[in-house]
Amino acid sequence: MPELPEVETTVRGLARFLRGERIVSVRVNRPDLRRPFPVDLVQALTGATVSALSRRAKYGILHTDRDHAMVFHLGMSGRWRIDPNTHDKHDHLVIKTAEHVFALNDPRRFGSVDLLLAPDLDLWPPFAALGPEPLGADLTPAHLRAVTKDRKQAIKLLLLDQRIVAGLGNIYVCEALWRAGIHPRKAGGKLTMPQLRRLVPAIREVLEQSILDGGSTLRDFARPDGELGYFATRFDVYGRESEACHRDDGGTIRRIVQGGRSTWFCPKCQR
Ligand SMILES: [Zn+2]
Repeated sequence: MPELPEVETTVRGLARFLRGERIVSVRVNRPDLRRPFPVDLVQALTGATVSALSRRAKYGILHTDRDHAMVFHLGMSGRWRIDPNTHDKHDHLVIKTAEHVFALNDPRRFGSVDLLLAPDLDLWPPFAALGPEPLGADLTPAHLRAVTKDRKQAIKLLLLDQRIVAGLGNIYVCEALWRAGIHPRKAGGKLTMPQLRRLVPAIREVLEQSILDGGSTLRDFARPDGELGYFATRFDVYGRESEACHRDDGGTIRRIVQGGRSTWFCPKCQR
């Protein structure tokens, strides 16, 4: 499943080829993904010039010189294929510019495409409730203090709450808590200010490292049939049950289940 770094890498990859380009054709190959494609999608985008691409949480946004912006979510298995030289039956949306072809490929179809009026983007319900971007200036120790104060829920679960921080998934919450040396079961309200001051940069660093790893795969997109979406990155705790802690502190990574999902952590250095 694409996490925030994959979406960010996808948006940067698309921007490289799409920004400033005029869309000459839009084709929808089936009526829906997780929900129907917007009925006016083809009409709204054909002939429009792409002014910018951006990301909000795990959504990519294609801004145009017209009234509308297209918002996409990659769901469980979505990816963009640039200049595909093979036909694929899972290419559900195909956008063409004078020079390139962009195909949204989504075998499991948990993704989505929406068309929104640009001034209303922030009011769109999936966006309106989101907390600050983890890579933006609004995520601060003071923000985390304000939203975790008096909370008895485990910090791991609070960080997965999109109203507290936008777009953080299971992998990066586990990694950030390890980096900050915070026990995933610790109640949010019990975190100290020094811990919160370590947590904010830890969240940024794990995401930025992964985006860098994804960026190295971006080179491949210059060739035909480039795919945007997935890449491998090195994790310190995620999926490393029973292995030695990378801090070489003698700790062994443990896996527990919180809120129905696995958490990996080191009982030695996470307190
Ligand atoms: Zn450790």
